Amino acid sequence: TTFNTLTLKPALLASIETLGYTEMTPVQAQSLPPMLEGRDVIAQAQTGSGKTAAFGLSLLHSLDVDTIRLQALVLCPTRELADQVSKAIRKLAANIPNVKLLTLCGGMPLGPQLASLTHDPHIVVGTPGRVQEHLKRGSLHGGGIKVLVLDEADRMLDMGFSEAIDDIIGRIAKHHQTLLFSATYPDEIRKVSQRVQREPVEITV
Ligand code: AMP
Repeated sequence: TTFNTLTLKPALLASIETLGYTEMTPVQAQSLPPMLEGRDVIAQAQTGSGKTAAFGLSLLHSLDVDTIRLQALVLCPTRELADQVSKAIRKLAANIPNVKLLTLCGGMPLGPQLASLTHDPHIVVGTPGRVQEHLKRGSLHGGGIKVLVLDEADRMLDMGFSEAIDDIIGRIAKHHQTLLFSATYPDEIRKVSQRVQREPVEITV
């Protein structure tokens, strides 16, 4: 299936064309329609499946650039993955003027992050510990978050980020869409989904 079957913002269709994507990958074809409807989604997806573009397109579609608030939060297990995801989202956002995206990871100095946060970004991609810290100190405001993405959720649990993720969810807007991507579906992932998602659409490819 082609991306044209979706009602995506023209700016996003333009980015897709620039990137040379023609057909949707199976994960994209299954997850994008419910994500664009605002449904919670839990998707079994490996690296290379096109999962980043799937949630990236969805969160950019619902983004309102004129509202200067944090609207989308993407949590990743590692800085390397957060950097990759940020890059991919920037490419998809290339035709939407003034999108502000910030990467907030542990192991990086806090000072420059605090300086960047004097103006709210629209999108934050980061690791759970550092994002939690910013929400706690009040340097990041989660009240306007519309979409929360848990990327590689199984790895985040393996790394012991479960409590940080729960704490983050307690500090952001109550009504938000949660998109959960995981390479594997162990019991712990099902439990997280049951805890943080509402009637999720389940996708396995
Ligand atoms: P990911 O699984 O998100 O790490 O993506 C794997 C690779 O697939 C990335 O290099 C993307 O640029 C690429 N990709 C994502 N969606 C598509 C698509 N629909 N057609 C071709 N390549 C894609």
